[in-house]
Amino acid sequence: MNEALPQSAVVPASDYVIIGGTGDLALRKIFPALLLRYAAGQVTDDFRLFVVCRQVISPEEFKAKLEPHCQPTLSGLDDGAGLLNRLMGLVEFACIDMSKPMSMTGLAESLMAKADAERPVIFYLSIAPSLFSAACQRIHEAGLVLPQSRLVVEKPLGHDRASSQEINDELLSVFREDQIYRIDHYLGKETVQNLMALRFANVIFEALWNNRYIDNIQITVAETVGAGNRASYYDNYGAIRDMLQNHLLQLLCLVAMEPPARFNADQVRNEKKRVLEALRPVRPENVVLGQYQEYAHEVGVPTTTETYVALKVLIDNWRWAGVPFYIRTGKKLKTRASEIVITFKNRPHDIFAKDGITDEINEIPNRLIIRVQPHEGLRLLLTSKEPGPGGMRLFPSELNLSFGETFNERLPEAYERLLMDIARGNQTLFMRLDEVLAAWEFIDPLVDLATKRIPLMYREGSMGPADDLLTSTGRAWFDPKEDA
Ligand code: NAP
Repeated sequence: MNEALPQSAVVPASDYVIIGGTGDLALRKIFPALLLRYAAGQVTDDFRLFVVCRQVISPEEFKAKLEPHCQPTLSGLDDGAGLLNRLMGLVEFACIDMSKPMSMTGLAESLMAKADAERPVIFYLSIAPSLFSAACQRIHEAGLVLPQSRLVVEKPLGHDRASSQEINDELLSVFREDQIYRIDHYLGKETVQNLMALRFANVIFEALWNNRYIDNIQITVAETVGAGNRASYYDNYGAIRDMLQNHLLQLLCLVAMEPPARFNADQVRNEKKRVLEALRPVRPENVVLGQYQEYAHEVGVPTTTETYVALKVLIDNWRWAGVPFYIRTGKKLKTRASEIVITFKNRPHDIFAKDGITDEINEIPNRLIIRVQPHEGLRLLLTSKEPGPGGMRLFPSELNLSFGETFNERLPEAYERLLMDIARGNQTLFMRLDEVLAAWEFIDPLVDLATKRIPLMYREGSMGPADDLLTSTGRAWFDPKEDA
């Protein structure tokens, strides 16, 4: 075991069946995460990892495809090459076409040979959503829907509420809700969970976390990359469905939710769902859609798909009445950063003003900045006295908590945590169906609006075209620092 890696709860030995195990997601995310958990001792030699795909692939070919994606991990470990070889010893291959009935019987024999109520059997659907229904049927007809079986699916789960309900109905015709793990990998990020610790393991912020003290909240998920080789997929989706429906709304829920009575899956998800249900439908004037200049050229045809969306969102409950949440996401922006900025209200009276009298308090407000990625951490912007004699001169100062520097160890990747939570049967960081549907309920009218509106063009390397959303209220976007 490598002591330099973070270690945590004991995970039961499991059978991980990765359907689509030779695809992009499996090679880039799933297997490298399993390798890191193997290095940390959570994945043990008693695990079995099944790669399911249509094309025949030898262990050597698979290892050659996987190795480049594991290089950053391997180079940082003692005996990285040996570790990958040992992990490969846990991998078994099954050549199965999920669209063909009764094609899973051979795999079923291998799985049943070790079947045990304490040994989770995890089916990870790393295939196109159009195959989800067929895959569930194969698992069912092979007799593999056992009490200890679990199903893992990734977004996109549909393109609107109705299609999401349809796909989920298909999953639920075979698996129970408590067996289904819907991944939004943002929820596996260290800082996203730290947001819950910050709010619910401390008293100082929670006391201020309401419309009495907070002026506005901004959530930015900015990417520097464009649609690139995903352009054909992305063009059918756009920023609203690709990012807003899931990642941004999840961050919004975690910032705005009430404290659950217990930190368990159902209570956390109940509170998140209440936030989604309290969202006020967004008026068209509070929506800005953008498209980066090169996008249509990349897609190869004229298109009005939005690559940027910004909204002013209001939450109709006692805590948040009147507090605007400004949320934005886009591609080809200036900085790659995901950040939540809580801006507090100004002090009610300025004792430092000349003669103690002032009509307007001109100051930099306190801000709490939660950096989700990269360089995870927290910054608290305060006002201090400038050192030295000669009067009370105020200047902005900063408390800075960089998680990377404070915790002298590597922060685990989101997939590492999520894969281990699935094996441990902990659904807290996965989306429940009613949450997914409540998110679509909010999103459907925005998608409809996007079909009728031409997006504003924005320059690559800018922060998008939504400044006017705030300037009319005297506020401005608080852009992520590039070197934060
Ligand atoms: P991909 O690169 O196209 O890989 C698809 C995999 O599915 C391959 O292993 C392929 O094996 C297998 N497959 C295709 N048809 C099959 C069939 N009939 N029976 C059995 N296996 C079959 O796709 P991906 O990008 O990894 O995406 C997988 C899923 O994750 C999709 O639902 C996608 O929306 C979701 N997702 C992906 C990413 C990402 O970063 N890639 C991010 C979020 C969500 P063969 O080549 O042998 O056919």
